Amino acid sequence: MTTLAATLGSPRRGEVALWSKTLIPTTREAPADAEMPSHVFLARAGYIRKVGAGVYDYLPLAWRVLRRIEEIIREELNAAGCCEMLMPVLAPMELFRETGRDEAYGDDLFQLRDRHDRAFALGPTHEEVITEAMRASVNSYKQLPVTVYQIQLKFRDEPRPRAGLLRGREFIMKDAYSFHLDVEGPGGLNETYDRLYGAYSNIFRRCGLDFSAVEAVAGPIGGSASHEFMVNCETGEDTILVCPKTGYAANVEKCETGARPWSFDDTPTGEVEKVHTPNLPGIDVVAEAMGVQAMDMLKTVVFESTAPKKAGGPKWVLATVRGDHDVNEDKVKTAAGVPVKLADEQAARAAGFAIGYVSPASVNTVGGTVLVVDPDATIGGAWVTGADEADHHVRHFNWKREVGAALGDDTKVRVADVRNAHAGDPSPRAEGVTLEERRGIEVGHIFKLGTKYSEAMGLSVLDQDQKRRPVIMGCYGIGVSRTMAACVEMSHDDNGIIWPAHLAPYHVLITVLKADEERLGLARKLADELAAKGVDVLIDDRAERPGPKFKDADLVGIPVRLTVSDRLSDLVEFKRRADAGKGEPIAIGEAVERCLEALG
Ligand code: ATP
Ligand code: MG
Repeated sequence: MTTLAATLGSPRRGEVALWSKTLIPTTREAPADAEMPSHVFLARAGYIRKVGAGVYDYLPLAWRVLRRIEEIIREELNAAGCCEMLMPVLAPMELFRETGRDEAYGDDLFQLRDRHDRAFALGPTHEEVITEAMRASVNSYKQLPVTVYQIQLKFRDEPRPRAGLLRGREFIMKDAYSFHLDVEGPGGLNETYDRLYGAYSNIFRRCGLDFSAVEAVAGPIGGSASHEFMVNCETGEDTILVCPKTGYAANVEKCETGARPWSFDDTPTGEVEKVHTPNLPGIDVVAEAMGVQAMDMLKTVVFESTAPKKAGGPKWVLATVRGDHDVNEDKVKTAAGVPVKLADEQAARAAGFAIGYVSPASVNTVGGTVLVVDPDATIGGAWVTGADEADHHVRHFNWKREVGAALGDDTKVRVADVRNAHAGDPSPRAEGVTLEERRGIEVGHIFKLGTKYSEAMGLSVLDQDQKRRPVIMGCYGIGVSRTMAACVEMSHDDNGIIWPAHLAPYHVLITVLKADEERLGLARKLADELAAKGVDVLIDDRAERPGPKFKDADLVGIPVRLTVSDRLSDLVEFKRRADAGKGEPIAIGEAVERCLEALG
């Protein structure tokens, strides 16, 4: 009988598998809709198979890689003090109604009904489910902090599932949730957040990924309360802006810009000229009709304050940016000093805004309005903008003449960064340096939630003074299946995948040419010796010609290949997947040593 001590003490023995006895359906043809290398190669190398739009089989090789990624995640999170659990995929709709996410998630939420006509959702993420579990389980601050996580399938009816595992409708996520009495101090949210930031960095580093942790839009409790972990990859979907000098990195929604010059003092270039512009959807069409560029126009968006009435402050917030720029709602919020949302069109019209034709001058005509202006929308004596009248625009809009005294009144008009940043903008961290654009794949996201879910669902504990306080939460996600795809994006060549050793489904592939008993016997012997050293080995024992076998070896990307063939009688051929060209004949006796050395 094996004792526990013996099990704990023994090093892990590697596994040996035969290609002919596993399922690796390699193909010549990439799926018709595959453009990204990870999609092409994971499908062609027999790792994944499409079952439906955004829904895939993880075949044996993929499953082995996923388990390796999951083990890295488990090791790092357990070391950071998190505990693993498993929540159900099926979640009662009532839970989502409690937080309003039944509406907020919209069509992305997969919904179904059981035989008793009760409504359920397939979990897109599990804040509600875990908050409910905590509500039933904790009552005192003494039970906090706690951080739990699971590795689980997630379901989102994405409008455009694409690129294989990169954006699926069913995908594997690691989601963690932390619970605290306070934000600051020992046991507080910030402490756990920082610890998980470190754990995430370790995880992605151990996956061999080149990544940046970028600032993302701040959470409800402010500060830099959210970070996205982006794999630096040109074919990625997300845009990141970086300061090449300081390393500051943020996504476009969050990125600040350095100081930009501004002035309202330009002299008018002509009388205001009103032009009839009916039925012109979008700023580019208007610009064309007016014979100018979008960058010669002012775009003014109407927001309404969502602050409680008794809190005072403006009712309306106008945000003006240059026509070719995009208003950034979070920056508007900061500049206006009140929470905002896009104005309800009817209400805004009733208040006097000519929606679609609003000019900055309406700050003077509609009471309770504050105007925030982006610096780039100031300098210039002749802007084209709305006429504050349906179906009309004006030429020669001049700030000083048209807006007048309000420009000097800080309670009416403020100049501030209120647009999305772009490559070429001044860096907010280094003078004289401009921001550069990079592309990335978001593999992880950590977030300070604050009390959003605990307040909505009534999760509170008694503090040291026996006072009831809502629990402060954080949440932390990793796209596990997306991470596997990102690894392939980062590590492949024209012929297939190139796995780093610690993620590879098997470490060594022994390709046996003309697989007779003698040569298979030799392959088995080598495999056993390697397995004794903890190496996982796949033996390609198929009765195939050498050409297809070598092609498949390159496709599946196992880091080291040994080839056993009759031409090499007492030699085997050694080749690293990452190396170009032919393999190197080596003595059989050296093979194990060379493999171990190559696997580092
Ligand atoms: P995205 O902006 O890419 O849609 P998200 O902000 O919706 O991502 P989160 O809700 O933060 O993502 O989910 C946590 C992680 O799950 C993401 O960082 C990403 O790695 C992964 N993920 C999200 N949606 C998908 C998907 N459709 N397919 C695969 N992985 C996904
Ligand atoms: Mg999403």
